[in-house]
Amino acid sequence: MTDVDLVLVGGGGAAHCLLHALGALRGLRVAVVDPVRHSGNDRTWCFWDRGRSPVEQAVTRRWSALRVVGPDGAAHPLAARGWSYALVRSADLYALARERAAHLDVTWYDEPALDVRDGAERARVTTPSGELRARWVFDSRPLPPPPRRPLLAGRREGAETALLQHFRGWWLSGADVDPDTATLMDFAVPQPPEGLAFGYVLPVSASRALVEYTVFSRHRLPTEAYDVLRGRFPGARVESTEDGAIPMTDAAFPRRTGRRVFRLGTGGGATRPATGYTFRAMLRQAASVAADLAAGRVPLPPRPYPRRHLGYDAVLLRALDRGLVDGRRLLTDLLAGSPDTLAFLDGTTTPRQELSLLAVTPRGAMARATAQVLRARLTGR
Ligand SMILES: Cc1cc2nc3c(=O)[nH]c(=O)nc-3n(C[C@H](O)[C@H](O)[C@H](O)COP(=O)(O)OP(=O)(O)OC[C@H]3O[C@@H](n4cnc5c(N)ncnc54)[C@H](O)[C@@H]3O)c2cc1C
Repeated sequence: MTDVDLVLVGGGGAAHCLLHALGALRGLRVAVVDPVRHSGNDRTWCFWDRGRSPVEQAVTRRWSALRVVGPDGAAHPLAARGWSYALVRSADLYALARERAAHLDVTWYDEPALDVRDGAERARVTTPSGELRARWVFDSRPLPPPPRRPLLAGRREGAETALLQHFRGWWLSGADVDPDTATLMDFAVPQPPEGLAFGYVLPVSASRALVEYTVFSRHRLPTEAYDVLRGRFPGARVESTEDGAIPMTDAAFPRRTGRRVFRLGTGGGATRPATGYTFRAMLRQAASVAADLAAGRVPLPPRPYPRRHLGYDAVLLRALDRGLVDGRRLLTDLLAGSPDTLAFLDGTTTPRQELSLLAVTPRGAMARATAQVLRARLTGR
């Protein structure tokens, strides 16, 4: 049995954000348990922020000139107002986090956690090679949402809406792109039979860009169905591809599952339901956990998003999923029509800003979606 201060169960994005933040501390013994040892470019993280990010050294590129393209093909500039869109390649983040945490006593266990058990003095993590005991466990394993249960059955659990944001992207070289302007959402791309789709073009130079085709819908598509944008870049060479699916759900994910066991990352609710953005929330939680540990406080990860934001997201997801709104038009209007949208995507708007955003949305449809969400949460129907 090995005794440590922290066990990180899952060594992906959330664990690396935490390792990076722990780099400011001294004398911690940390165990990371994950059958996969991440080091390469297995994903690209994009996020909105203002000024410098805590992981600025890993930022490949920032754009303050961005545009959104409506379903009619009209391009609209985004009112960035001090915000910029940053791109981090996972290999750079993993390397930076390990470098920052190099002075800590970190041991990597390349094996799955079989069991996580809470305890009054120590939590225990069982792996195929033995047992680890720790003061605190941070668990970021992917977690399926709990089965759906309405309020009238005692306690609301599970998802009223469960969509996926699924995508495939290509790092292209030899492409002819405007190096200064990123296209955040291009809704004038071929649409799938179900859900809505948009393209991204994120240029890192005049000839290299990450191009992505993204769909919001209930189910993933066959691989070739994502290939619809390749013809737009004749002669470009594919350096690498990446694909994935991010849950977009209004299910609640607990941040604490025991006295000494916390959840982080997507499994801990860090993924914003209506956007799939997760990275900034993981950084915020990591900074807070590190500060709590330094101060000797219980390191409960803070709520990733305000409750009322999760309420808005539930309504928006319902409206998109049930076809109550023209999603492509609504998202274009929100992004192009209000300078507050970026702060909203980050989860940092005030109620006053949110009222101005509501004015951009089709009020009748949103009222119907709100009524449906409330009824479903209460009765399950
Ligand atoms: C391709 C892709 C691109 C994304 N791009 C963005 C983006 O641009 N912006 C953004 O904000 N978000 C993005 N996300 C969403 C989110 O930021 C990432 O999914 C992020 O990696 C979440 O971190 P995590 O630690 O919760 O999960 P992960 O990084 O997936 O880590 C979970 C880890 O748990 C491990 N694990 C599983 N089972 C066990 C077990 N039994 N024992 C131990 N370990 C286990 C897995 O091997 C994995 O390493 C993206 C997601 C994907 C998939």
